[in-house]
Amino acid sequence: MAQQMGNQPMIVLSEESQRTSGQDAQSMNITAGKAVAESVRTTLGPKGMDKMLVDSTGNVVVTNDGVTILGEMDIEHPAANMIVEVAETQEEEVGDGTTSSVVIAGELLSQAEDLLEQDIHATILAQGYRQAAAEAKAALEEIAIEVDEDDADILESIAATAMTGKGAEASKDLLAELVVDSVQAVADDGDIDTDNIKVEKVVGGAVDESELVEGVLVGKERVHDNMPALVEDADIALLDTPIEVKETEIDAEVNVTDPDQLEQFLEQEEKQLREMVDQLADAGADVVFCQKGIDDMAQHYLAQEGILAVRRAKKSDMKALARATGGRVVSNIDDITADDLGFAGSVSQKPIAGDEKIFVEDVDEAKAVTLILRGGTEHVVDEIERAIEDSLGVVQTTLEDGQVLPGGGAPEIALALALRDFADSVGGREQLAVEAFADAVDVIPRTLAENAGLDPIDSLVDLRSQHAEGDDAAGLDAYTGDVIDMEEEGVVEPLRVKTQAIESATEAAVMILRIDDVIAAGDLAGGASDDDDDEDMPAGGGGMGGGMGGMGGMGGGMGGMM
Ligand code: ADP
Ligand code: MG
Repeated sequence: MAQQMGNQPMIVLSEESQRTSGQDAQSMNITAGKAVAESVRTTLGPKGMDKMLVDSTGNVVVTNDGVTILGEMDIEHPAANMIVEVAETQEEEVGDGTTSSVVIAGELLSQAEDLLEQDIHATILAQGYRQAAAEAKAALEEIAIEVDEDDADILESIAATAMTGKGAEASKDLLAELVVDSVQAVADDGDIDTDNIKVEKVVGGAVDESELVEGVLVGKERVHDNMPALVEDADIALLDTPIEVKETEIDAEVNVTDPDQLEQFLEQEEKQLREMVDQLADAGADVVFCQKGIDDMAQHYLAQEGILAVRRAKKSDMKALARATGGRVVSNIDDITADDLGFAGSVSQKPIAGDEKIFVEDVDEAKAVTLILRGGTEHVVDEIERAIEDSLGVVQTTLEDGQVLPGGGAPEIALALALRDFADSVGGREQLAVEAFADAVDVIPRTLAENAGLDPIDSLVDLRSQHAEGDDAAGLDAYTGDVIDMEEEGVVEPLRVKTQAIESATEAAVMILRIDDVIAAGDLAGGASDDDDDEDMPAGGGGMGGGMGGMGGMGGGMGGMM
């Protein structure tokens, strides 16, 4: 940056800095943002395709999930990253709709590009887009359908819609039922913490063998074969301290000079272990989950007492056990009393896909459940897990908000029509921005049609005419190409999936459009940066030169997707 001061130019930036201004900056950022959206567009909807992502270490992820694809891509361009953040916000807020939000953001940029070329100022565009977004939200709320939280049928439809197009689709009826059951099981007076739903992936068996354990599944075996494999009406002790004699006591005292002394010492140790086990038995424990180790001798004593014991349980399992059984995690065995124990109707060891695990079921509190997902291979199970996470998110959102929308492009068509009406009342150049916004959201039904191999123009015309006749729920059946009532078809999504997508997409697009100057420290033309944090302007980033320079980081694997 040089400014004239008399005859001497004043140097403000260092020589390595790079600066792109005005239209160049704008078009560079728009190109980068659009490229991100383009990279996930083909995955949208029930007929969307999957992507195979290979990272630099050769790990393979096969997925249809927008936020996962963008997360796996090593995107460095700062404007491109703003679009990735749209997907991340969507994932955090609702769990579903990540692809849609990014595709809308990309299309908002693309429409803006045309208007910028017609000399419409970015500030006018930003204002128009903001107005349109507020109006769109209102239009969506208008057509939203109220849902009763006890209506299991509609909840299952919502759960199933979030899974369409993902690997889970073939078994979506069963999985949707499991998702709804698990969210309802952990719902506590309208408060839902999906952390209480543990998803346990099991490779082996069929997806249809997935099941819900009302309670906790611990991925361990009992420590001794002589322990019972099933305990009914179990009082459960939870320990985060070992059932062992502390090493230090041994080291400090032992100085063996004759065999008697050693025997005496071992007897002493056995006595201490015996006492620990007695304390647990006296408190009334039938089952012991220990987060730490259990000495061999103690295992033997526990088995003698008929206690089922598990050692080295995960901390997260201990927490879930405490919540589900109402027990308290005890750190000092001397202090344990009957009051500390939790309760479960059944604790048993059973095999799943060849691995023995402990099932803690029929729990009193039942505020924790475990969803056991099965599938033939690791990739299958991983993708099902991602679909289930989306599905859990939409059911939770629905129970929280109680409002849903028909899917299949219906809400986008409805709001685009509403926006075109609204545009007339806006007037001036902002009217053009509002109309551009309406055209931009059409990208959802258009892409659903394209991905289903249908003619997008025909589909849009068909959809619009049915909506003009007052059918707010008319959406595109991606399987037949017909325009049908999506509510009747059971293709429904939470209202918040759509409002959040509009909101984040607008914010990101507006933010990008308002930038007319990109100043980056350091040499941007140089090689790829090694810092992967998500800063908007990486100090030494390699992504700014040439717009797309920083988007090829998938070990070559992403080249064909752009
Ligand atoms: P996202 O990451 O945005 O959720 P998806 O690939 O899950 O992307 O696609 C979501 C879109 O697919 C939504 O517009 C939704 O309404 C639509 N959709 C889902 N199921 C169907 C269906 N059976 N028929 C038509 N459209 C559907
Ligand atoms: Mg989805």
